Amino acid sequence: MQTKTCTRCEKSKPRDDFQNLKASPDGKQPWCRLCHRLSPYGLTEEQYNALVSDGQCHVCGGTPEELVIDRGHRKGKVRGVLCHTCSRVLGMVYENTEILKAMIEYINGNA
Ligand SMILES: [Zn+2]
Ligand SMILES: [Zn+2]
Repeated sequence: MQTKTCTRCEKSKPRDDFQNLKASPDGKQPWCRLCHRLSPYGLTEEQYNALVSDGQCHVCGGTPEELVIDRGHRKGKVRGVLCHTCSRVLGMVYENTEILKAMIEYINGNA
């Protein structure tokens, strides 16, 4: 199997782990796919693996096929990984805990 060394994580990975790039001398991106995914979050592969090690959403504990990296709305540091549902709910309430508390009260009051 042909491998290529990623210039970000410096790991030797199968060429399939690199996206095609016609302009590049070897036809592949210099960074592996995972590095492209993680670099906007400033995460290393090891940090990412630690976050997803139990495969669980950090809010509901569900084990979805894919976990979303969550770092809040002000592009701060990564807080955890979430399932798509929790990530969407968090985005919809704008992380306003007052809204969340009011919702809980509303639900309890109308149960
Ligand atoms: Zn890499
Ligand atoms: Zn969840």
